[in-house]
Parts: sequence; structure tokens; C-alpha cells
Amino acid sequence: MIEDSKQAEFALPPDLLRRLQALQPLLWVNPGRRLQPDPISPADVDAAAERLKRAGPLLARRIPELEHPEGLIESPLLPADKLRDALDGSGRWLLKADHQLPLAGSVKARGGFHEVLEFAERTARQLGWDGQSFADLGSPAWRKKFGQYRLVVGSTGNLGISVGLLSRALGFRAEVHMSNDASEWKKQLLRERGVEVIEHDGDYASAVTAGLAIAEADQHSHFVDDEHSASLFTGYAVAGRRLAAQLERQHIEVSPEQPLIVYLPCGVGGAPGGIAYGLKLIFGDRVHCWFAEPVHSPSVLVQLASGSTAPLSVYDIGLDNKTLADGLAVGQASLLATACMQDRLAGVFTVEDAALREYLTLAGKLLGEKLEPSATAGFAGPGWLADSTVGQQWCAAHKVDPASATHVLWSTGGGLVPDSVYQRWLAD
Ligand SMILES: *Cc1c(COP(=O)(O)O)cnc(C)c1O
Repeated sequence: MIEDSKQAEFALPPDLLRRLQALQPLLWVNPGRRLQPDPISPADVDAAAERLKRAGPLLARRIPELEHPEGLIESPLLPADKLRDALDGSGRWLLKADHQLPLAGSVKARGGFHEVLEFAERTARQLGWDGQSFADLGSPAWRKKFGQYRLVVGSTGNLGISVGLLSRALGFRAEVHMSNDASEWKKQLLRERGVEVIEHDGDYASAVTAGLAIAEADQHSHFVDDEHSASLFTGYAVAGRRLAAQLERQHIEVSPEQPLIVYLPCGVGGAPGGIAYGLKLIFGDRVHCWFAEPVHSPSVLVQLASGSTAPLSVYDIGLDNKTLADGLAVGQASLLATACMQDRLAGVFTVEDAALREYLTLAGKLLGEKLEPSATAGFAGPGWLADSTVGQQWCAAHKVDPASATHVLWSTGGGLVPDSVYQRWLAD
């Protein structure tokens, strides 16, 4: 494994490797080579969309703050022109406000809820449910039965919150394995809601390994695997058709002349990868998806740029994976996500913590939205395309005029951040 990684490291162009190691913010354009077949099919995304629809009545019954009558878990698409003006951008800017997603307050509601619902459906069938009415699974009798089962997940925070809170709402037990540098407030919130939190020395990867081992030893446990789960990925991908419907309702055309450019904060790549996959299914060449990663944690960039399917982590090139953006602090990309992104992703740009702080302040001041640092990483994207040489070349090659495009900044989290924590970020 290490040998493979080292080989891949040398496959990184020397100039790119040098700039990554110097922690220089940069824009990397994906050459788009296809190295392996897709691990996900469009039919898988249809199945996830259908499942979420069927489960709507159960969600509406069990999540009190869910206002949508059919139990749809969705976030608003908000105007962000004030942000555009402050950052000297052009074209139409929109904020996809996933920090407002109910219960979880982050993009992880999309994937995490889908996987919990898939597990609930499977478990209920094994226990004799006829599959007719999802709403029935919200009854006290079913909640009692679900109490024999447990969902286990390793998480830096938001995935644990998403999986943990929905599991508890349906009656399952939930266990979240965290590295001991995960935020205190997240651990506290989970414990208050009846989720078991287990802390581990070391980083996120060691928490994941520990969680997996525990779940595998217990027949009544299901492990939510952030790096490999197709259930998470397809749950995220449903966002593609949801965004398409919102754009249509707002009469926003998506065409070769007025393309959609989407900027997605990226950790392991599952959430942004799923969303990009779902958007590509619908819009094809009319959408361009870019990932945003911290300069200390460019895991997907490193993996895709290596041009290899052997895993290569940010540690392998000497980076420390330490960033204010805890939702993006991931050393090793999901190989499921990079396989799907190999020829679908436009590219990746990297962002410094100082920029995230600035964007956090701007989002609060200009848009009135309280985000977490990770959620703002995409804000740097339009500037990279319009103002850098590499970005301008990319625009020319793809016949994209940023002034005619619709720029969607995907705001991935912050909905549950306590005010005291938020104020501290602003003060720093
Ligand atoms: C998890 C997360 C992301 C990125 O998702 P990945 O699947 O790890 O790439 C982005 N922003 C926030 C706030 C997150 O919690």
C-alpha cells in the first residue's frame, strides 16, 4: 500500500507538488482522464430519490421542525448578489443554504438521512413489515423494535450529528466515534440527544477504523462508512434534481450560454461528489462543478492529480491536515468519490483559513446567514475563474463567460453552531 502511495506521489507534477507543499492557494484543472468504470449508476440515484419520497411521511411524523408537508428535506436557494458585489464578482450568485437543512443543520442531512432510512427500511422488512406505509414506522411499537439496533459512524462532527440525530428520532441507538480534537459542542449536542460519543486519540481516520471494528462484531449494528458508502453518495446525488426544480421555479435558465457553475466545499469528497454526480446527470455539459479544499487538506486534489487509483493522502506529501475547517479536515479522499469525479469534476481550488474567516464574516454581515468555516470554502471559486490565468484559460476553453453564468455557492453547514462558538470565530 505504502509503495503504491509513494509511486502515486511521484506521479504528481513536480511543480504542483511543490506548490501544494508550500501551502499556496491554487486552482487545479482536472484533465478528466477516465481510469476506471463508475461505481454508481443513474438508477441508484433514482432509487435514492424514490426512497426519500416514500420516507417523507415518516420524517414529517418524527421531525417536529420539518415544515414541509410531505416530509421533504430541502434547503432554500438564496440570492447572494451582495456577496458578489463585495467580492468583485460578476454574473448571478446564489447561496444553496444547506446549513438550513432541518435537524442536522448541514449538507450531511442529505446522505446521512438516506442511509439511516435505507437501514430502517431493510431492518423493518426483516422484522416482517410489508413495506406499505413508511409513516407506520414512526409508531411507538416500531420505535421499540428499532431500539434493538444501532447505527455506528466515525465522524469529525456533522456526519455524526446527521446519522445520530435521525437514528435517535426513529428509535435506533446511535454511536459516534470521534477524534478527541472534534469540537466540544458537537460532542455535547450528541450526548444531550441520547447519542453515545466515543473519543479516540489520533485523527478522523483512527476514529473510523475503531467504529468499523465495533460494528462488525455486532450483528445488530450498521456502520455508516463515509469513505465507501454508496447509500450516502446517492443520497447526496438527489440534490441534483432538487436544485434543478428550484432553478426552474426561480425562472433561471441553464444553457450553454448561461451555464451553471457550482462551488462545493470538499472533505472526503462524498457530499460534493454526490451532488456533482447528481447535477451532471441532469445538466450534462451545462454545469461545471468545482471543489474547494483547505490548503492543509487537499485530499481530493492530490488523489485525482496523482492520476492513479492507488490511495494517496495529504500526509504522503508532507501536509498536516490541520485547518479551521473541521468539516473538510480529511487526509485521504474517498476512492468512491474520486472514481465518480475523475471525468465529471472541472477541478479543485484550495483556500487558506484566513479567507474562510473573512467569508464567514461576509456571509453574516451581507446575507444574514450564520455559517461554519467549512461552509464558506466555495466563496473563493468565482474569483479563481475570473481573475487567475489558469481560470481564464479554463473559461476560454469551455466557452464560459463568468458574467453570463449562474454561480452557486454551496453552503454546507453551520445551522447548529452555538452562538458562543460563532461569535468566537468572528472575533478572531
Ligand atoms: C462533511 C462536510 C463537507 C464535505 O463533505 P465530504 O463528504 O466530507 O466531502 C463540507 N462542509 C461541511 C460543513 C461538512 O460537514
